[in-house]
Amino acid sequence: MILAIGVAVLDCIWLVAFHVDAGQLILALNAMIALVAAGGFLMLGSVARRRPEGVVFATLVVVDAATLALGLGHPVLGSVAVGYLLLLPVVVSLVIPWATRIHVTWLALHAALVLGYALFAPTESIPDGARDQLVGLLIVAIAVSQSGNVTGVRGRVSSFTQIQQISALNRQARRDQMRLDSLNAILETTAATDMLTGLGNRLALDAGLRLARSRIERQHESYGLLILDLDRFKAINDERGHLAGDDVLRAASDALRRVLRAGDSAYRYGGEEFVALILVTRPPEALAAAERIRAAIDSLQIPNARNAPYGHLTTSVGVTMIGPLDLSADDASWLARADGALYRAKANGRNRTEVGPADADADGTDRSRSPADRGRRDVTPVVPWPTARPVPGRLDRLARPRGAR
Ligand code: GH3
Ligand code: MG
Ligand code: MG
Repeated sequence: MILAIGVAVLDCIWLVAFHVDAGQLILALNAMIALVAAGGFLMLGSVARRRPEGVVFATLVVVDAATLALGLGHPVLGSVAVGYLLLLPVVVSLVIPWATRIHVTWLALHAALVLGYALFAPTESIPDGARDQLVGLLIVAIAVSQSGNVTGVRGRVSSFTQIQQISALNRQARRDQMRLDSLNAILETTAATDMLTGLGNRLALDAGLRLARSRIERQHESYGLLILDLDRFKAINDERGHLAGDDVLRAASDALRRVLRAGDSAYRYGGEEFVALILVTRPPEALAAAERIRAAIDSLQIPNARNAPYGHLTTSVGVTMIGPLDLSADDASWLARADGALYRAKANGRNRTEVGPADADADGTDRSRSPADRGRRDVTPVVPWPTARPVPGRLDRLARPRGAR
């Protein structure tokens, strides 16, 4: 701004020095231009902020008009006026980053004014022989100015297009990432889920035991670790077929799931074997939970004639406690303890719950219990669970012998 004012003042002094007779006119015209420009920015402050191009356009039209008036009013200054008119679009293109219709409008208007002036100005200002050359020069100047403008616009448009493409690619990448995340989540769940029963599989059991171990360590929690094995399940397969056997596995796992509480988890350990991790504070709670599960499967009343003396589907359960004193043992030995109890449940007649030692010493001392608890027999062998409740619904077909319709 200061530079522009400085140049304008020097220009006035220079013109006035060479054309003293036109000094007043030159000063008046320049003052008018300055007033229009300053007034435009000051008085129309908000308009200038909102539509700066409009104000610049108006100012330039005034500059054009003033320059033409100078040339027409003082034919001696004609060549100076033409020079200014030639320079103006180039200066404007350099100074103002216009790329809009209003810029093109001004350039077209300016070209018409300049060409009109060059063609029809009094002969005194432009010698007749120089007119053709002047018009040619004007056309070249306007073409250069416009092409510079067009190149600038194209540059901006291509940058804008590239930015648009980059944003579109970014959006696509974000969408793909979200899809990938959800597919990964599905994959993670699927990889850890047993497809037949919907319970966690061995992978999930490993993770569940890891989580339990860290909670035992940090929050001193304790768990009942249960292994269930359906009694004489093979007979169901043999009598009614594998598909019916699958239905029974699903029914048993549904019953297991129903009995679980928040904080508990269940897994399919193998063919007809399940594991449950039950959050408890004392061993009797683990036993009670195991009994609830055993009773739930028993109460399904799914016929299994070869499971004497019960005649229907039952399960044996082995239970062990895991707590802070068991952290030195690995997962396999935890499971082995529960499995040992399960073995005893089978050996003692099936359809029962047996409790394995918590972290037993070689001498049989149960170190996971308080000294006061030790030696107390808080887990009693369980007698077969009496049930008589018939179960309607889809399990009816399990009652049919193989091949029967
Ligand atoms: P026990 O009381 O001693 O456990 O006898 P059991 O018959 O249950 O035990 P056994 O190990 O002899 O048989 C287990 C059967 O479980 C054999 C196998 O065909 C069946 N099984 C394992 N996985 C599946 C499965 O996904 N679907 C079906 N239908 N049967 C299965
Ligand atoms: Mg088995
Ligand atoms: Mg079995």
